[in-house]
Amino acid sequence: MARKLAAGNWKMNGSRAALDALEALADSAGGAAEVAICPPFPYIALAADRARGIAIGGQDCHAKEAGAHTGDVSAPMLADAGATLVILGHSERRQDHGETDADVAAKTQAAWAAGLRVILCLGETLEVREAGRTLDVVGAQLDGSVPEGATAENLVIAYEPIWAIGTGRVAEPAQIGEVHDALRARLADRFGAGVAGAIPLLYGGSVKAANAAEIFAVPNVDGALVGGASLKPADFAPIVAALN
Ligand code: 13P
Repeated sequence: MARKLAAGNWKMNGSRAALDALEALADSAGGAAEVAICPPFPYIALAADRARGIAIGGQDCHAKEAGAHTGDVSAPMLADAGATLVILGHSERRQDHGETDADVAAKTQAAWAAGLRVILCLGETLEVREAGRTLDVVGAQLDGSVPEGATAENLVIAYEPIWAIGTGRVAEPAQIGEVHDALRARLADRFGAGVAGAIPLLYGGSVKAANAAEIFAVPNVDGALVGGASLKPADFAPIVAALN
């Protein structure tokens, strides 16, 4: 069984004052499920100092350790600032910054070398879903983005259908289940059933308190990667509670 994880992706939201949310969230956490918050880069060190058992993560990292890459942040820097995980391959990175599966694989290797756990995101467009190609596309993303060396300790997969992100349009339980079953099977082919069974598979896309329990009841769903509803403890705490 994979460990349960509720991870919040603040995206380009938040402030120094918003970090007060961490204490409120820590007070309401405390169950078996792990809780993580991934704030923007400038807040990672501050967040790590106030995390009180909540894991702190970045939202991206560069594939190189250091060098002439203006504006970029490396995986060792994230770890040095107190992060223990990093989101990689989010569809907003793939779309806005042209990240390919090969880029995501290289970043994943860099993150692992720095001792970070990777929440690796994949998911299909509405066009792909309507063409009936979802399993082919997410399967290819998984193959291309996950390098050799994945373990239950260093990898989390987040299935985030692009059409469900920030739209209020959540995927149906059957749709989520079909993709998660396929991802688990594909991981088992590569890494063995034991490792594959223990890699947490998260769903992401318009998760909120009102739909969390139904999503978490789907087989092979081990938690959620939450955007908008992770910004306020009053919204995120009930999602964590639904997982426990
Ligand atoms: P929303 O929960 O805001 O739909 O965002 C999902 C997401 O992209 C998390 O990474």
